[in-house]
Amino acid sequence: MRIHVKHAIKQAFVQTGIYRLNRIANRFYILTFHMVAADSNGFFPITSIRVFEKQIMHLVENYNVVPLDEIVDRLKNGASVRGRVAITFDDGFRDNYENAYPILRKYNVPATIFLATQFIETGAAPWFIKLRYIFMKTDKIDYRTSLNGKSISFQMRTREERYGASEAIMIYFKNCLDAERVSVTDRLCEELSVRDFGGLDNLMLNWSQVREMSEQGISFGAHTVSHPVLATVPLDEAKREISESKKKIEERIGKPVSSFAYPFGKKADYKPEIFPILEKIQFKCAVTTEAGINNYGTSLFELNRFGPWELRAIG
Ligand SMILES: [Zn+2]
Repeated sequence: MRIHVKHAIKQAFVQTGIYRLNRIANRFYILTFHMVAADSNGFFPITSIRVFEKQIMHLVENYNVVPLDEIVDRLKNGASVRGRVAITFDDGFRDNYENAYPILRKYNVPATIFLATQFIETGAAPWFIKLRYIFMKTDKIDYRTSLNGKSISFQMRTREERYGASEAIMIYFKNCLDAERVSVTDRLCEELSVRDFGGLDNLMLNWSQVREMSEQGISFGAHTVSHPVLATVPLDEAKREISESKKKIEERIGKPVSSFAYPFGKKADYKPEIFPILEKIQFKCAVTTEAGINNYGTSLFELNRFGPWELRAIG
């Protein structure tokens, strides 16, 4: 029976990419999650509750799961980080509280949640989630529109094709100013006949949930105010986004915030000019979404993370 369970856990990890982790000296790992929900809908970055629990069980059994801060402190002190794993969540989705937190407590596992503070303040879903939602809900099977004066068309007969269409718009949106993104989103809703956004209600954490988790050992990090692509906004704006999110979380939880996650997090989404800004306002580390193992040579402001959800987003 026990062998059976172990095999099932191993399979879950093979499928989700985590099994590649190994325990070579002084290598450490940071895992990224977004949503943890009953089932994947094929459009949101969801890890299923069942898979999440199996992954946590596997980590507890085989690694030393520690707070991200502890890894950073050990690196600074020259202590061993062998086999250390830190668990992180981005954006601040409510299911982190409802679904992930009970499992983290059950196995006594620490984690860091990176909050984009505007979504916690207003309760509104992030624009990139709204975009996926529109393409998840639409009944259109062929879609022709124009973006930036260029005509484009999508076939949307399958879920994968609809996801692909949303991805094309996402790439465009990542280089847009806010006003353009809002107006194109309104047009998408109209053209794709999606008007009911009830499915996006109560998607984000509120501050009382954040405070409760903070008191019970979950750490919080900053993830900007409005989740911009930091590489494309002016440096002053980037600085404001970063420092205001840090200040807001510190005010709300009454504890210092020392870790940061770059929105979207790929190399193209941030720039090196951001590193001194982070350092100056007392961040100890920053994490990307570049998949990779970390070691002593990895910059504390460009820590790699594995994202099992990425491999499952469409499947
Ligand atoms: Zn994010």
